[in-house]
Amino acid sequence: MLLTIATTYQPATDLGFLLHKHPDKCQSFPLNIGQAHVFYPESGADKCTAALLLSIDPVELVRGKSDRHQSLGHYVSDRPYVASSLMSVAISKVFRTALAGRCDNKPELVQQALPLTAKLPVLPCRDGESFLRQLFEPLGYRVEAETLPLDSTFPKWSNSIYLSVTLHQTIRLCDLLSHLYVLIPVLDDDKHYWVGDEEIAKLLRHGQGWLDLHPYKEQITKRYLKRQGKLTRKALAQLTIEDSQDNEIQNREEAAIEKPLSLNQQRMEQVAAVLETRRVESVIDLGCGEGKLIKRLLQNKSIHTITGVDVAHRELEIAQKRLKLDRLPCHQQDRVKLIQGSLIYRDRRFSGYDAATAIEVIEHLDLNRLGTLARVLFEFAQPKLVIVTTPNSEYNVRFTSLPSDKLRHRDHRFEWTRQEFQNWANNVAEKFSYRVEFQGIGEEDTKVGTPTQMAVFRKG
Ligand code: SAH
Repeated sequence: MLLTIATTYQPATDLGFLLHKHPDKCQSFPLNIGQAHVFYPESGADKCTAALLLSIDPVELVRGKSDRHQSLGHYVSDRPYVASSLMSVAISKVFRTALAGRCDNKPELVQQALPLTAKLPVLPCRDGESFLRQLFEPLGYRVEAETLPLDSTFPKWSNSIYLSVTLHQTIRLCDLLSHLYVLIPVLDDDKHYWVGDEEIAKLLRHGQGWLDLHPYKEQITKRYLKRQGKLTRKALAQLTIEDSQDNEIQNREEAAIEKPLSLNQQRMEQVAAVLETRRVESVIDLGCGEGKLIKRLLQNKSIHTITGVDVAHRELEIAQKRLKLDRLPCHQQDRVKLIQGSLIYRDRRFSGYDAATAIEVIEHLDLNRLGTLARVLFEFAQPKLVIVTTPNSEYNVRFTSLPSDKLRHRDHRFEWTRQEFQNWANNVAEKFSYRVEFQGIGEEDTKVGTPTQMAVFRKG
């Protein structure tokens, strides 16, 4: 059972500092069910690869189990050879400090996204390659996978459930380790140990910062907790509580900063005006949040289809309540649909609309995810009209309650100047053959412009 992690960051041997394992040494660690070995097949300044090899004792693995009917199955087991939940145990034991995101020698390196490649030569994946992609692609990985034959000398026996998997991404090492820690057992779907409340705590700890945003968080949680309904419900409830408390506080803060202008209302009016001028009849609002734009668009009778998408289930619940959909007459109810999904994951449900809107959403994504977002939106969904709005960071100096080094919202990953936004939008337009025009939203200041900036993309 093998996992390798390689980097081309320079000097690549810094990987040894981050993993707290010296590249020149081969080290072994006892586990309950065998041994874990860490060594570096290569360690140069340009490229460095660390390997975690587990040698599992199949006899030790079944010791104490009393299921007589499966006695042969116990001994003829794939566990010693495949990456399973045992790999997660080894990661947490052998790379504990790296997983926790600590490195006393090079603390700045921990926070840095590094070009990393993780390889799992034999990964059991009972639901096939598409499920593997559903788990890793929303997190920004480029995934390569090859299905392994059951036996290469007997091709007729067809394929096994095992994949040889390579994952690429420029990402912090602690994030990569957390993703592997949670998702390897999810793919395997065959945990070797009993799960209880402690497993919820581990899942929430290692899923912090990404699991609540993952479009498949329900499946991940369910499988991680070995399909135990009660534990799954408990874990999802905790994920949602943490998520919504955070969001509510942050939304209130952002509203307070922008309040004097009631900027939000102006944004909705201006976006609606563009959609109306362009005689749009169907709209998909990506990152719809509480459904403010949807509410505004319901007033326009010529828009017959409005779909709101958000990655956060909690936001959709609030939208459902605020829009009072269940109290609308049936023909009105049919106009609106709310679905959970992620903007950084190609999704057939995003296609077929006249227009797509992403209002104050892009700044909630890491910069390195914007390339994927652009493909999802402009290459795959391809509506004729796309409206994107985002804060104009130059304007922040005019918000007296906002400290100069702060962004408007704690969940913002970045805020752009007018030039930065226009550079991005012009590039996207050129790459995917759209035309783009810019408008300001909110009161205009001669020096720093308007508080919000909007790009209107048109195809053809
Ligand atoms: N458009 C709304 C909400 C903006 S807040 C408005 O203007 O009021 C940003 C929203 O984007 C949040 O609801 C957040 O859950 C959602 N979001 C963040 N990342 C996302 C992603 N990857 N895919 C879909 N929605 C996302």
